[in-house]
Amino acid sequence: MSTALEIRGATKAFGDKPVLRGIDLDVARGSVTVILGPSGSGKSTLLRAINHLEKLDQGFVRVAGELIGVKVKGDRFVELHERDILTQRSRIGFVFQAFNLFPHLTILENVTEAPISLARDVAESREKALILLDRVGLADKAAAYPRQLSGGQQQRVAIARALVLEPELILFDEPTSALDPELVREVLDVISGLAGTGTTLVVVTHEIGFAREVADRVVFMDEGVIVEQGTPAEIFDTPSHPRTREFLSRVL
Ligand code: ADP
Ligand code: MG
Repeated sequence: MSTALEIRGATKAFGDKPVLRGIDLDVARGSVTVILGPSGSGKSTLLRAINHLEKLDQGFVRVAGELIGVKVKGDRFVELHERDILTQRSRIGFVFQAFNLFPHLTILENVTEAPISLARDVAESREKALILLDRVGLADKAAAYPRQLSGGQQQRVAIARALVLEPELILFDEPTSALDPELVREVLDVISGLAGTGTTLVVVTHEIGFAREVADRVVFMDEGVIVEQGTPAEIFDTPSHPRTREFLSRVL
């Protein structure tokens, strides 16, 4: 089993408030990991640290074996240059709760923006974007603008955009929690469709049904620590920690 994501001793405080208190996590390549936990438990901060949006105070993150944000020089960690950070980030897709599409760009342009800004071939980038839009069921919306799409459609575009650079890892931070209930399914179905295709998925979500069906591993976080982790059956049917049981009794 090769490891797509390795986190060791991840620690982060905002001011004097500890938010991550020593997180260790291994995610197998090609697997689906769901992270659950109450609001404020540090889930978003953890995902953001994986993608250089936050800097850890202590500990490290490796994606596909490569240290994120730093390299080792002798026995010291040295910060990477901005250019290297951009390269690392291009290997990690990120899907936010709030879609974050560029409002002034068409759907196709939203998907091709990253590859074109990285000086990839324009015609090839467009072709690939159209294939991905087809895969998320939105080939007919290529020329539309984000405001003309429903929230569920916009989030599917955001997923196509996250896929376009063929990342090793895609991070989803509550991808359906800003959606009207009737639009949740179409987005979860697209994410489910990515499972088993080789890309590693880490999904923060409260959608327990999705986690049960699709996750290989479920991780429960509370107050900046991983309280327990296991298969969906272990976590949902026989949770061993009272905090997990208490949380599940509220969301199930
Ligand atoms: P979750 O995603 O599990 O709800 P977060 O990682 O967003 O949790 O937040 C964990 C804690 O860190 C919360 O108490 C939040 O208020 C705090 N926090 C998050 N980001 C910042 C920030 N940039 N500055 C100060 N506090 C923050
Ligand atoms: Mg969050």
